[in-house]
Amino acid sequence: MALASAWSDDPSPVAVLERQRRRESAARTYARSFPIVPVRARGMTIEGADGRHYLDCLSGAGTLALGHNHPVVVEAIRRVLDSGAPLHVLDLGTSEKDEFTSVLLETMPGGPSGWRVHFCGPAGTDAVEAALKLTRTVTGRRNVLTFTGAYHGMTAGALAVSANVEVKAPLGTTGLDVTRLPYPYDYRCPFGIGGDMGTDIGVRYLETLLTDSHSGMLPPAAMIVEPVQGEGGTIPAPDSWLRRMRQLTATHGIPLIIDEVQTGVGRTGAFWAVEHSDVIPDVMVLSKAIGGSLPLAVIVYREELDSWAPGAHTGTFRGNQLAMAAGTATLRYVAEAGLVQRAAEVGDRIMRELRTVQTRQPCIGQVRGRGLMIGVEIVRPDAESDARGARPAAPDIAREIRSQCLRRDLLVELGGRNDAVVRLLPPLTITDDEATTVVERLAEAIVAAERDYAGVPA
Ligand code: PMP
Repeated sequence: MALASAWSDDPSPVAVLERQRRRESAARTYARSFPIVPVRARGMTIEGADGRHYLDCLSGAGTLALGHNHPVVVEAIRRVLDSGAPLHVLDLGTSEKDEFTSVLLETMPGGPSGWRVHFCGPAGTDAVEAALKLTRTVTGRRNVLTFTGAYHGMTAGALAVSANVEVKAPLGTTGLDVTRLPYPYDYRCPFGIGGDMGTDIGVRYLETLLTDSHSGMLPPAAMIVEPVQGEGGTIPAPDSWLRRMRQLTATHGIPLIIDEVQTGVGRTGAFWAVEHSDVIPDVMVLSKAIGGSLPLAVIVYREELDSWAPGAHTGTFRGNQLAMAAGTATLRYVAEAGLVQRAAEVGDRIMRELRTVQTRQPCIGQVRGRGLMIGVEIVRPDAESDARGARPAAPDIAREIRSQCLRRDLLVELGGRNDAVVRLLPPLTITDDEATTVVERLAEAIVAAERDYAGVPA
């Protein structure tokens, strides 16, 4: 029997996309907004089967620190393939894993010693599960402190600490044993105050929860936090706030889990985003870029926490040798080629230029970010501002901007509240010319979308 012989019937992009639409689940995501069949990719450019060359600001949801098929990554993968090493070895020790572990530990905040690594199933969400299990096991507590706007993944525990109500609502639960705290989202301050005072009130509220004998909150097993919220809408937390979270958790004996799945490996202009605030977490959750474009996820935690039993967090796919080799090559290249500093500089430049665009385009509510994790919040140009100058989100304009970008061969995704934040996650290898093109095309797309919108009744 020849399997899938029908496949050769019509390999044209239109037919591929049509079969995908018919056969894949209604839950598919990027495929809905980007009718592209990628055939080749290099650096920041994806070539579609339609012959067009797209400038990719998705980078596999922030995975591709070095862009597509970077020579050092391809070389590392080839080397393992050519060596005849087994590609799948559960969690056995290998030289690839040994080297990856050494290189990874060298990058840890505060230095390489005193940490333990646990290799997880190959997705960020599984590493989040591991971090939650570890801290619950160590403390013997259940409740986890987490934040509005958080995104930590789609498996049960990770979803419980995540914040997207739309995804949680059909499940009939918002997740048990979680205390939700306000994340310092200045543009839409949860207290309607903003600035330092808005941030301070959130800190003060947490202090009360931890110290008031009638706060109603049981002692938490952990706090989990993203230093820059990604899916929540590219929202950087102030460094002083993160330091306060570290102080409070330390004082009250609560392990601090920092989720650097999206912010890690130079993306924010520091190798790890916690370095901006000099915070040393108890647990780091790492995935995406650490695998150099292949699936890999780990937690790295203080060795005092290492009290769980053998098999406490298993998983079949914890030994992807190709991902470890690609990851080692990526970590090294990011550090040695100065890409951390580069991300900070190009990111600042892109944000500066987008803020100039903002002065002409009232649909841009805010341009924000850190390094090459950039968000442009799209708002209704014709609506009243609230007391702090923010206007209502405009998801329809944001969607139009995304499709205007696509027409100009620029791939950008939407995220954040109401999907109204245009998110840019270009590779750290982006050239000056590519940065110029990204800003030009995005600016044109914004102008076009705003022009279309004009005249539509508020
Ligand atoms: N944590 C953060 C901060 C993320 O951004 C993501 C993915 N966007 C995850 C966890 C989950 O990772 P994965 O999709 O690999 O499960």
